[in-house]
Amino acid sequence: MYPLMTEKGYDYSFNANACESCGGNCCTGESGYIYLNQKEMEGIAGFLELSMRELKEKYLFKNGYKFSIKEHIVEDSHDCIFFDRKINGCGIYPVRPTQCRTFPFWSYFKTHKEELQAECPGIIYKEDNV
Ligand code: SF4
Ligand code: SF4
Repeated sequence: MYPLMTEKGYDYSFNANACESCGGNCCTGESGYIYLNQKEMEGIAGFLELSMRELKEKYLFKNGYKFSIKEHIVEDSHDCIFFDRKINGCGIYPVRPTQCRTFPFWSYFKTHKEELQAECPGIIYKEDNV
């Protein structure tokens, strides 16, 4: 059992125990960008035993000046290319980018409550908890 996670400045907490039954909503579904920096790319390349060139060619694409992770369509869902449906989880979990590590505590969600609630069953708003 994971303890409830909170973050200063956010009016919700996160129950990571919900991930097991969720099926990875945050890694699948709607198309989106998952940005990574140079250090994160090097970490993933090392983890997958690929050169940076191979990593970029196989798994990343450029949006403007930033790199993002590719998606592929699985049953009408835009799955992150690293999402593994056999385990319902991230195939690069130990080296996943900061954007993934910090979910669901993104400042964007401070003003998009319904969107977050629809996506993540692990979200508990303070008013739901009293
Ligand atoms: S959407 Fe929420 S509950 Fe589902 S896998 Fe992602 S973080 Fe876990
Ligand atoms: S890198 Fe891993 S945690 Fe991040 S979106 Fe892809 S599958 Fe999910």
